[in-house]
Amino acid sequence: MIDNYYIADQFSLLSKLMDIHGENSFKARSYGAAAFNIEKLPEQLTQVPSEKLASLKGIGESVAKKVVEIINTGKLQALEEIVAKTPVGVIEMLSIKGIGPKKISTIWKEMEIESIGELLYACNENRLLLYKGFGEKTQQNVQEAIEFYMQNQGSFLYAEVEAIFPAIESYLVKCFGADKVKVTGAFRRQQLTIDEVEFIIAKPKEQVKKVFQTAVPPELIEETVTSVFYKLKNGLKLKLHTDSTALTKDLFLSTGSPEFVEAFLNKYPGTSFSGTEEDVFNQAGISFIPAWLRETGDLDRLSAVNVGSLIRETDIKGIIHSHSNWSDGLNTVEEMATACIARGFEYLVISDHSKSAAYAGGLSEEKIREQHRYVDELNTKLAPFKIFKSIECDILGDGNMDYRDEVLATFDLVIASIHSNLKMTEEKAMMRLLKAVSNPYTTILGHPTGRLLLSRNGYPVDHTKLIEACVANNVVIELNAHPRRLDIDWRWIMAATSKGALISIDPDAHNIEGFDDCKYGVLAAQKGALTAKQNLSSFSLQEFEAFLREVRIKKLGGKANAIR
Ligand SMILES: [Zn+2]
Ligand SMILES: [Zn+2]
Repeated sequence: MIDNYYIADQFSLLSKLMDIHGENSFKARSYGAAAFNIEKLPEQLTQVPSEKLASLKGIGESVAKKVVEIINTGKLQALEEIVAKTPVGVIEMLSIKGIGPKKISTIWKEMEIESIGELLYACNENRLLLYKGFGEKTQQNVQEAIEFYMQNQGSFLYAEVEAIFPAIESYLVKCFGADKVKVTGAFRRQQLTIDEVEFIIAKPKEQVKKVFQTAVPPELIEETVTSVFYKLKNGLKLKLHTDSTALTKDLFLSTGSPEFVEAFLNKYPGTSFSGTEEDVFNQAGISFIPAWLRETGDLDRLSAVNVGSLIRETDIKGIIHSHSNWSDGLNTVEEMATACIARGFEYLVISDHSKSAAYAGGLSEEKIREQHRYVDELNTKLAPFKIFKSIECDILGDGNMDYRDEVLATFDLVIASIHSNLKMTEEKAMMRLLKAVSNPYTTILGHPTGRLLLSRNGYPVDHTKLIEACVANNVVIELNAHPRRLDIDWRWIMAATSKGALISIDPDAHNIEGFDDCKYGVLAAQKGALTAKQNLSSFSLQEFEAFLREVRIKKLGGKANAIR
């Protein structure tokens, strides 16, 4: 229905988008004022004869014409045109409290950010601080506003759900008893993003519903004979399977993906589901498959995994890929190193941004020499702990590295990553990646697809070809452990390790707290059946040094005299 609110909204959006595009600010302001005035009018504009519109308060000739257009067609041509040339994500930014059109314009045009998720990630990397009008306080407000907004969109990162999961679980356990409450579904499978948290509750549905009749009850969105489905205040969906009388069976059937469960039931139709989940696999005569691996229907491959050898969080021995305040990190190198020591890590790889990454305070060649002297001093002071000199070197548009070979040779190791011109064809992406991987100084390929979960698809990549190139060139493939990246995706880990590739679970930390993200990398790696031996950051200091020496000799041969 077309009413004053609808009409005002059209003008308001038009005004904001014109500001974002930096178009005629006088006109933009007059449309903004029109929106404000129209909302307050006592009479409905649809009831006003069109010749009288222009004489109403706050509406002039040009606005009046547009009002008639909206009333007659339901649309506003000028608005449609400007919407068409604005990325959806940029328009969506208008829903974030605390950033107006002017800031959005800077975010889009100068920072080249086109979605809310990318913006959140940029806050995380302290990228906003480098722009006029964006202080630390603004950045923090924007970050909180985005987190709030995204949580209300219904999909969550695993890490976000994990933060509130204990509260939900302990509440249910308190109400029904630990033996009656079992987590299941996507969260139990350690999926990277979660749409709903599922529990099995061995209690009658009506009794479960009673527990939720609180002062501010969560929204009941669906109900079947044996389940209730709520939406919590933060937007997270909670699915409760009630009336369970066969806990093991219900747990088994609701944990695995549909493909896994179907394959299992087809292969072992006589399964009785008595006893524990372990018993179920025993009866089938195959080894236990943990929940996180129950994704595909390839039972032979899954049951062949040696679960005991899979990587655990305690296997991470060093922090590889981190940023200090020399580029866009918040802490000094010394603070980061000291925090590593306190957490029991044996080494730290400092890899600030390279010179082309101006937005992130990338290091000039002069700064690199200065940082290396500083790291040498710290290493003397902090031994036997060791800081490795590295760089997150931008892969340029043509696939070249951001520094000359002579500069690259001064690092202990080089992480090569794409950060700019992310919109490209697979052909272009592969050209850049393969060229970077074949550079003899590249040690690790950073976040191979550039994706941001729930926010940005990565550039298109031929994974098989890329993995083969990494193996052939002795380049380690990063599993970036930031909960919004988790890139390379776990689905490619088995393909990579089966070809002999080495993976590295790296936190890409921009502050000390960032080290904790290693955990999410490990959870994702477990889904890909990665072992500690196949993960570079699980190498002890000695093993890590030996590895660097070995690949240098392999890749540079006689030129490897720069080895320290
Ligand atoms: Zn990066
Ligand atoms: Zn990084």
